[in-house]
Amino acid sequence: MDISYIINELAEERENYFNAVAPPIIQSSNFVFNTVSDMRNAFADEYSTYLYSRGKNPTVDILRRKLAALDGTEDCLVFNSGAAAIFAGVLANVKAGDHIVSVDKPYTWAQKMFNDILPRFGVTTSYIDGTSIENFERAILPNTTLIYLESPNSWDYALQDLKAVADLARSENIVTIIDNSYCTPLYQKPADYGIDLVMQTATKYISGHSDTLGGVLSGSSKMIERIFNSEYMNIGSGIQPFNAWLLIRGLRTLPARLDRLTNSIKKVVNFLNQHPRVESLLFPFDEKFPQYELAKKQMKGACGLLSFYIRANHIAEVEKFCESLEHIFMAVSWGGHESLVIPKCSGIAPADFDRNNKEHRMIRLYVGLEEPEYLIRDLSQAFDKM
Ligand SMILES: *Cc1c(COP(=O)(O)O)cnc(C)c1O
Repeated sequence: MDISYIINELAEERENYFNAVAPPIIQSSNFVFNTVSDMRNAFADEYSTYLYSRGKNPTVDILRRKLAALDGTEDCLVFNSGAAAIFAGVLANVKAGDHIVSVDKPYTWAQKMFNDILPRFGVTTSYIDGTSIENFERAILPNTTLIYLESPNSWDYALQDLKAVADLARSENIVTIIDNSYCTPLYQKPADYGIDLVMQTATKYISGHSDTLGGVLSGSSKMIERIFNSEYMNIGSGIQPFNAWLLIRGLRTLPARLDRLTNSIKKVVNFLNQHPRVESLLFPFDEKFPQYELAKKQMKGACGLLSFYIRANHIAEVEKFCESLEHIFMAVSWGGHESLVIPKCSGIAPADFDRNNKEHRMIRLYVGLEEPEYLIRDLSQAFDKM
């Protein structure tokens, strides 16, 4: 299916709503039945019927069909945040006594779930360096039921060989789930490599405007129906119709925005690579990136996020750089119109700063939709002020 068709036409039954180009927001909690028999059928199969909007909702369904088609999967669920999508996808595939193999340093709230919540229910997690398949082979135990991936990682962009991990997991009857937020399905389709569940936060690129949260979980109908009837309905964190509408709106321009970001970030990478204040830089499509070949093999593109290590002897210099930026904001998140930085040292006490620890000098930069030259000028003057 063409991406343009998915984004502009798929699942939109315009004849049902006055041929309006934009879909309606069906802001209704419940749906009416005319016969007891219809109501009975709905109770028996909420996955296929409009009964109550914690389950199915028509506006949300338009979004679901588009996102599943983009992921190349049979179905998907959309949650009120990426964290909720991760939680439901993981919870649905473990029980007491099970073991998870996760890549190192997954998204913060995935880590907190593995470390703080799941152990209370007898589920344990081993973290591994996912850059080599042997590490997966060694970490799998007889009770491993789930492998958790994030490729690329959203700070250091570490990749996993998705085909190799999916093949290994299949042979051991283990379910695989990936956080695909960095790439979106436009730049990487993990289901094509055999990954079972594909998660992405819709807060970032799908929304694209820093004005709503959302999370997507895609997979086979069988898996998605099971999760719908259990975790999705029980956690009750499905996306609300208005937010679903905002995400449909965001999708319309997703390819155009990613194109723009892809071109802009190349210029920013070139600038940073040549700047004396930059010790080194991490970006999956930079030729010096340690897994550049794998990135080129399994990803169609890379854009938006990069990290760099700034040369500094004191934390004050790093702080001065960040606070001197006049147009690039200091804020969490990414994927919106606006460029952002997060210094890693914002997570440590100033007294603990160690200039020999590269991590302390790491800055993550999200390159937004502004003119790249405008951003480069801003970075340049902030480096000068250090
Ligand atoms: C933001 C983010 C999430 C979580 O998404 P929310 O919508 O904020 O809950 C998960 N993974 C990655 C890589 C993210 O950047």
